[in-house]
Formats: sequence, C-alpha cells, structure tokens
Amino acid sequence: MTKRIPHLIDDSHVVSTGRSADVYNPSTGQVIAQVGLADADVLRQAIDAASAAYPAWRNTPPAKRAQIMFRFKQLLETHEAAIARLISEEHGKTLEDAAGELKRGIENVEYACAAPELLKGEYSRNVGPNIDAWSDFQPLGVVAGITPFNFPAMVPLWMYPLAIVCGNCFILKPSERTPSATLYIAELLNEAGLPKGVLNVVQGDKQVVDALIEAPQVKALSFVGSTPIAEYIYSEGTKRGKRVQALGGAKNHAVVLPDADLDNTVNALMGAAYGSCGERCMAISVVVAVGDQVADSLVDKLLPKIRGLNIGAGTSVGLDMGPLVSAAARDKVVGYIASGVEQGARLLLDGRDLKVRGNEAGFFVGGTLFDHVTPGMTIYQEEIFGPVLCIVRVASLEEAMALINAHEYGNGTCIFTRDGEAARLFCDEIEVGMVGVNVPLPVPVSYHSFGGWKRSLFGDLHAYGPDGVRFYTRRKSITQRWVKRKSHEAAQFAFPSNG
Ligand code: NAD
Repeated sequence: MTKRIPHLIDDSHVVSTGRSADVYNPSTGQVIAQVGLADADVLRQAIDAASAAYPAWRNTPPAKRAQIMFRFKQLLETHEAAIARLISEEHGKTLEDAAGELKRGIENVEYACAAPELLKGEYSRNVGPNIDAWSDFQPLGVVAGITPFNFPAMVPLWMYPLAIVCGNCFILKPSERTPSATLYIAELLNEAGLPKGVLNVVQGDKQVVDALIEAPQVKALSFVGSTPIAEYIYSEGTKRGKRVQALGGAKNHAVVLPDADLDNTVNALMGAAYGSCGERCMAISVVVAVGDQVADSLVDKLLPKIRGLNIGAGTSVGLDMGPLVSAAARDKVVGYIASGVEQGARLLLDGRDLKVRGNEAGFFVGGTLFDHVTPGMTIYQEEIFGPVLCIVRVASLEEAMALINAHEYGNGTCIFTRDGEAARLFCDEIEVGMVGVNVPLPVPVSYHSFGGWKRSLFGDLHAYGPDGVRFYTRRKSITQRWVKRKSHEAAQFAFPSNG
C-alpha cells in the first residue's frame, strides 16, 4: 500500500479519507505516496484549532515566542540531511540545492528570533500638553499561506515563522506535489515547543484554497505560485476584505555589457539558468547580450558547459541538475522548445531527447539554449520554468532596459558589467523588484524583503523581512493624556492642534 500523507491539526496527524493526489519521485517517474486533499470539514478542524489557540498565543510575550524559534532553528539544522532528502525525492532537485533552500529558509527563522525587537512599536512623548502617542503592532488573528512546489522548505519558512512570532495562528496549504518536507518541518516547530493549534497544515488543491478564501475567520492570505493563481487569490481575497500578498511568476533577464568579465558571467549564468532545472522564480531565463560580439562569445563559452551538465536523479550526490517535477511540467517545457523552433529562434542545444541511464522513466529535459530570440516569440513572453536559456541580441544598454521594462513580469533581473555608471542607471530605472549587479540570483537576505513588481506581485507589501512584519500585524495608534491632579482644562471646540 502506498503511504498516505496526512494533515497536521492541533499537533496531530489527521488522515482524510476523501480525495487524494499521487505524489511522484520525478527522478524515477514512480508514484511514491498519496496525499489526502482536505475538504471543508478538514479545513474547519484546522480553523477551529487555530482560533482556539489564538487568545493565549496573542498574549504570549514576544520573547517567549522567539525562544521557540531559537529551538526550531536548531532542530532544522540537526535534521538538514533528512529534510534535503524529502525535498529531493518529491521535487527532483539535487541534495545540495535542497540543503541550500533550507539554509535560506532558516535565515527567516533567525529573523523571527528578533520578535521582541521587531514588535517594539513606535513611541512619541509629549505630542501635546501631557499627551503621549504610540503605535502598537498587533496580530491579525488566524492567517494562512499557500505555497508552490518548487521551494517546499524555503517558501513556507518565508511566511509562518514571522506570522507566528507576531502573535498570529497559521494555516499552511503546501503544494500537493511536494508535501512531505513541508509537513516534516512543521512537525519540528511543534517539537520545538509551539503550543498546539498555532500552526496547522492542510494538504490540498484548489478546493481547500477556495475554502480558505471564503472563510471569514482567515484574516490574511500569503500566496506564492504562478501569476494567474496569484491574481485570482488576490482579487477574490481582497474582495472579501482580507489582506493579501500574492507573489507570482517571472521572466528574469540578465543583461551582459561588453565590459563584463565573461568567464565569471558564464559561470553565474549556468547556475542561475540551469540550477534546480530552471524551476526557480528567480531563475535567469533570458540573456540580453549587448552587441553581437558579446552574444557570440557567450554562445562559445556556454555551449561546452551546457553539454557538460551532470544530470541525474536528484538524490544522487554531486550533480548539477535533476529532473522536472512532473510529466506535465516536462511536456510543457518540451512544447515551449518546439514553439521556439517553429517561431524562428535558433536552437543551439536541444535537451528534449535526454535519457538518464537507470532512470529512463524520470521527467528529464537536458540543458537547452536558444539564440536570436525576439520579443514577439512565445518563449520570450512566457515563463517556461525549465532548463531553457534564451539569448536576445540588442545594440545598447538603453535597448536592453526598454525590453525588460516592457515585459509583463518584473521579479528579478541582473546586469554584468564593470561600469559603475551603467550599473547605477540600471538600478535606478529598471522596473523590476529585485536587482543584481554581477549577482545572478539577487534573492534578498531575510532582513530585507522579497518581491517583484508588475505582474510578479499582487499586493502592497513584499514577503518576509520588515514588510512581512507589517503584513502580519496591524497598527494601532494610541494617544493618551494624563492631566496633573486638580488642574482643570476648558472645553475646546476647535480641532486639537499644537498651533
Ligand atoms: P501554482 O500556481 O500552480 O500553485 C501554487 C499553489 O496554488 C499550490 O499550493 C497549488 O495547490 C495552488 N493552486 C494551484 N491551482 C490553483 C487554483 N486553480 N486555485 C487555487 N489554488 C491553486 O504554482 P506552482 O506550479 O506550484 O509553482 C511554480 C510557480 O510559482 C511559477 O510560476 C513560479 O515562478 C512561481 N513562484 C514564484 C515565486 C515568487 O516568489 N514570486 C517563488 C516560487 C515560485
């Protein structure tokens, strides 16, 4: 019998008997488990558990909440190997890549350990005679997160450690394609001493997401995933008066200027384009080469490296790249490669026929490189989410920037150059939320915040860091007067001011 992956409610496993989905090992193409898909009844149990836990958790001192996060961080580090294996088995990414995403997730736990500092509030003495004013940052109540398949450890850790230290109770809906690592990590937080019901995990698909959107007890939704779903959740959630931050898809361009150090640039591009089989929202999928000479040199240097990619089952050691997450993802990428050829791009390396010995049924596509891609092509416009790098040739930095600014997505971008003036112009005027200068994957550290512009993010606040604290709290402004005993003040009918 295949394993059935449960929900986690009130610190107990709940095995639902209704609908389920197959969970694959993408390296072998085999079903390795089934995940129960929550219905309205399971979600109700989670909401009841979170609502019951909220009053006591809200009143728990931030320093005590933070102490649990210190223990959680230690447990995550102790169990790194087990977590990396769970990620790799269901996602296909290499073990080293899986450990890397966990480390970036742990950064967010470290940030959450600063809860007493983050929640100190703002205070002004004597804003008027005998009057002091301050702002408190109070929790929202029960909040929820919906996460994508591609970072089963890191993206949930962007959300609930911070939401929880801010005093909220949390319901997490992981991707049904990669549920196990997410569940295991949530169990570790309970082991670290989190009171029952403060964090609950409901497995599921659209049905439970819609129920979360509908539930009046859920005050805020954090979403990370593709743009159409992000837009849907943002519009349906805000329509119901919820706070929503919804991070969507991407098409990240790397601009290469003629003065760039091309050997370092090519190494940076290899990891950013083909790492995790291109299944990263910050993956570089377009290289904008300024000048034909740059483009030709990049092609010469990239081709042998892409041919040399060490591709295999993610759980083996020392690989560069594993498979795509599912047969559907592989077919989609293969379809994009065909469309690039049909629309006239020059296919320099074709990963479609890759077979990995011993894992012939795995969902593999090899490293693929297109040159002479133009903005009208589907492979330029849409997010491929696979190991496909497109080279676009332009004549100037201005043309490169105009191209990026015209694209519907604005998640990440980077520029490779030794010219500080060009880099500064790029940082100032590019319409993208996260920018790298000689840094291919400019994923902000946990004490900044993560988010794209344009159709890569719906909402006002970015994820984690200072924006995360604001998202998971609401400001209460308090103005207080204590008049000296026996002093009397006359009634005042004009609007109060210091004038
Ligand atoms: P997805 O949008 O298919 O799924 C994300 C989540 O939404 C999952 O939990 C899924 O169960 C749920 N979902 C799927 N369809 C739904 C529907 N119709 N209604 C309601 N909920 C639904 O995304 P994915 O394939 O898991 O992840 C890949 C996508 O996520 C890519 O587009 C990638 O760029 C994006 N992503 C963005 C970021 C970012 O920070 N901007 C980070 C990681 C991934």
